[in-house]
This record gives sequence, structure tokens and C-alpha cells, in this order.
Amino acid sequence: EQLINQIAAGEVVERPAAVVKELVENSLDAEARAVEVELEGGGLSLIRIRDDGNGIARDELPMALTRHATSKIESLDQLERVASFGFRGEALPSVLSVSRLSLVSRTATDEHGWRLAGEGAIAADAQPQPAPHSPGTTLEVRDLFYNTPARRKFMRTESTEFRHVDQALRRIALARPERAFALRHNGREVFRLARGSAEARMKALCGEAFADSAILIEEERLGMRLWGWTALPSFSRAQPDLQYFFVNGRVVRDKLVASALRRAYADALHSTRYPAFVLFFELDPSGVDVNVHPAKLEVRFRQSATVHDFLFGSIQRALRDVRP
Ligand code: ADP
Ligand code: MG
Repeated sequence: EQLINQIAAGEVVERPAAVVKELVENSLDAEARAVEVELEGGGLSLIRIRDDGNGIARDELPMALTRHATSKIESLDQLERVASFGFRGEALPSVLSVSRLSLVSRTATDEHGWRLAGEGAIAADAQPQPAPHSPGTTLEVRDLFYNTPARRKFMRTESTEFRHVDQALRRIALARPERAFALRHNGREVFRLARGSAEARMKALCGEAFADSAILIEEERLGMRLWGWTALPSFSRAQPDLQYFFVNGRVVRDKLVASALRRAYADALHSTRYPAFVLFFELDPSGVDVNVHPAKLEVRFRQSATVHDFLFGSIQRALRDVRP
């Protein structure tokens, strides 16, 4: 079982950033209002994630760390809907199989928290122990890949791994302005984001310069909705990767999207620069296949020509409207 988990871990848990993404998504699934991420050594020494969500009941702690113990799928229909989001009860057992993991959780009705921990696996006779905790969950992942040296060797420097975590958390935070997020690395605070509007979150993460030069986009047609901000070509971005495109709340990188944006800029502004943008695209989930790979950022649109035309048209019109 541990070997199976380690193989699954190779898929789900590529590096610290992937661990953080899975664990933070669990916190959000548990309706946390605030999620705090703390790293040491780029996440290779320690990843600690604390949330104020619903928590896990004492009796369910062992299950949460056991393969395919997802509590989120109750019907086939639901399975189809959530499959693309990687909710398959694999994340925690996979992470445990390649780390020293401790899970402390307290539900709203518990009087204290319960802790369960293991190195690579939990002992068959392991019992949750009482531990102080406010309602919510804290997961500590130490020494990632300590028992899979081949994978450990693939890791880059601490600062590169940190950068990946930072980017992964920023993406999630941009799409979830109604939740608070904080990130610390080696004892230093990297950012702390209060709950607020999408615009406030965008400003906090992308900077005033971007916000000032950005054009608001808001279009809805044929069951598709595009909204967010795209910068004028005059905006020279300090962050080289200020390009966020979310499909139903998930960030994606997609050739069709890139091409629609480029064409809109070329057409409306005769600009050949690939612009900075934060855009949210919403459509019926059945119109998009996100299931290419849970950890990758790819999608496939069923009606790609319609989607391309809608994106291109929406951005082109918005840019034309502001052209002096
Ligand atoms: P999945 O998210 O696919 O269900 P995971 O392995 O990511 O599988 O998590 C296993 C289970 O542990 C979840 O279904 C959930 O019940 C529980 N869980 C994990 N993290 C949290 C959390 N932060 N708060 C509450 N429950 C959690
Ligand atoms: Mg999960």
C-alpha cells in the first residue's frame, strides 16, 4: 500500500508547490475562511498549513490518511463533476507516503483537537491523540521525499521551490478573494491577504501599477462569461508572469486563450506585445474538459471555435472602447 501511494505521489505530488496546492484546496473544500501557509527550506523541510475550516472528526482521521478515502463523492454524477478537480482521495495518503506528516484537527463540536501522525505511513494501531487546536485543521509535512531519494534529487534550489509555492498560492488567492491567505517562508512573512473584493485582491497581488493601467472586462454571451482586467500595452510589468486566466476558478495555460488575446491586441491596438491580464472565464462545466492531468494546467474546450471567438470579441471590444 505504501508503494502504491508512493507511485501515486509521483503523479500528484511533484514538488512542494503541488503539495501546497492540494492541501490548500482541501482547506477551501472544508470551508475555511482563512488559510495560513508556512514553509521552511522552500517547503522541502517543512510545509505547515493551518485553516479554520470544518475540521475532521476523531474517528475519521485515519480514513483521511488512507487511500481513496474521499468524503466528497457521493454519486457518479458528482464523480464526473469533481474528477477534473483532482478530488480523488489521493492527496493526503500520497503526501504521507513521501514525508513525515502530522495532522491535527478539531471540529466545531470537539472540545480539543486530535492528532495523528506517521512517517511514510500510519501505523496500523495508531490512535489519534488529544492535542490543543482551535476549530480547523493543521497539516505539517516535514522532509518531503526523505524516503524517495531519486525524487528528492529532482528538486531545485530552495528559492526555486519557494517561488513555485508562492505562484501556486497567488493563483489560488486571486480566484478566492472571499478567503484570507497568508504565506511565510523561513520565518518571514511573504504576504497576508485580508478577505475582500476581487478588485482589492487583484490590487494586492498584481500591484497598483497594473490596476491603474488595467481595463475592466465584463461580457456575457451564449452561457459564457468573461470578466477581469487586462493591461494596456503601455503597462510594463514588473512581474514577468502577470498572466492569469482562470477557467471556472482554476488557472490554466492554453494556446487557444493565448491566441485569442494576442489577436485582440493586434486587432484593436496594433500591439504585438503579449499583455498582462487577470481574467476569469466561466462556462458550463460540461463545455470544458479539465481532466487532462490534475497537476497540469491544461484544458480542452468542447466548442473551441465558439470559445475563441467569444474571448477574442470580448477583449477586442473592450480595448476598442478605451482607445483614445
Ligand atoms: P480528497 O480531497 O480527494 O477528498 P484528500 O486526500 O485530499 O482527498 O483528503 C482526504 C480527506 O481528508 C478529505 O476528503 C477530507 O474529508 C479530509 N480533509 C483533508 N484536509 C482537510 C482539511 N483541511 N479540513 C477538513 N477536512 C480535510
Ligand atoms: Mg484533496
